[in-house]
Amino acid sequence: MADLKQLTGQFLTLFGGEVEGIRYYQAPGRVNLIGEHTDYNGGYVFPAALTFGTTLLLRPRGDRVLRFASTNFPHKQGEVLLDGIEYREEDDWVNYPKGVVNELQISGRGPAQGYDLLYHGEIPNGSGLSSSASIEVLTGYALLSEGGHPIDRTELALLAQKSENEFNGVQCGIMDQFAVANGRRDQAMLLMCDTLEFRHVPFESEEYVLVIGNTNKRRGLVDSKYNERRSECDQAVEELKEAYPELTLLGQLTPEQFHTEAGRIESMTVRRRALHVVEEIDRVLQSVSVLEKGDLHTFGQLMNDSHDSLRDLYEVTGKELDAMVDAARKVPGVLGSRMTGAGFGGCTVSLVHKDSVDRFREEVAAQYTGVTGLVPDFYVCSIGDGASQLDAPIQA
Ligand code: ADP
Ligand code: MG
Repeated sequence: MADLKQLTGQFLTLFGGEVEGIRYYQAPGRVNLIGEHTDYNGGYVFPAALTFGTTLLLRPRGDRVLRFASTNFPHKQGEVLLDGIEYREEDDWVNYPKGVVNELQISGRGPAQGYDLLYHGEIPNGSGLSSSASIEVLTGYALLSEGGHPIDRTELALLAQKSENEFNGVQCGIMDQFAVANGRRDQAMLLMCDTLEFRHVPFESEEYVLVIGNTNKRRGLVDSKYNERRSECDQAVEELKEAYPELTLLGQLTPEQFHTEAGRIESMTVRRRALHVVEEIDRVLQSVSVLEKGDLHTFGQLMNDSHDSLRDLYEVTGKELDAMVDAARKVPGVLGSRMTGAGFGGCTVSLVHKDSVDRFREEVAAQYTGVTGLVPDFYVCSIGDGASQLDAPIQA
């Protein structure tokens, strides 16, 4: 949790003026707990908001200027007029909040006056915990609240995604913004990305925490391999259509339906890809039913099965993610460990007994560095709330 008092000091140093009038907001990062490479196959994902993310301090101004600063990018501030919001490459990170302001304006809910805004992110950028969705949803939530507008969290997520797609030209799906907006403490979310059908699922984990391990491996291969996997899935659908003429996405098949006709898929590689997708979707549904019974142990086993399938069938893990997961599973008190995100680098997520966290950090770091030569980072958290306003800190 960010130190709001200290951030208030930084805000006043940057922007001057008084403490009165500063308001505080937060939005979390997110992690996908299980259900990887299922979204574009018409299957479920299972994300959760984290207990850390991005904090925003803002204060209204008497004019029509927005002044943006971030503790994460101390050398890059932005100053724009409300009436002149446009994408400019040299504005760098400021294009993310500007994109959201632009969407709010298009929808007739732009800010009525200028603001000073200071962001503080605890999410590593570009590691798959979705710092971009966090800063977008945060900006939208705060400015809608300031304007006294009712907030529909799903609509806010769509607005944030649109700003990332159109204003920033980044093609992201809806899962990230959705999870950051709709998160709830101690609850994961079962989400179908095409239809936005979703529900919260209890994730009671008093004794256990999530430990996110950043491999700190640059994710070079992601785009080309991602496209290759997508076309392999299309290929599988084409061949299975002989048996199921209505089929458009692998997610429409039960595991039984798939197994009966899998022989029609000529390439063994494509068959393995499709098997991953069908079984992974089934694992998400099994996860929901075991978590509804409070059975974290079986959920941990499903996490392990998910990683093994991504490694052996879908082949999107790589040496670093495998090394980190292998090391994690050797630590007593670990119920499950898997890669999260698109793969080839980025982060792992492990379900770890809280008494084992110190040992986890030490042993996983040592083994991981031994195998890869890279130094990992760890983030210990639980499942937290979606975007919200925070109480002002008590000033000494
Ligand atoms: P990810 O969403 O996986 O963390 P992205 O590349 O999509 O990675 O988004 C990271 C970018 O989002 C950063 O480079 C920066 O432009 C912006 N961003 C995220 N958090 C902050 C922050 N706290 N302050 C300023 N910019 C941020
Ligand atoms: Mg992002």
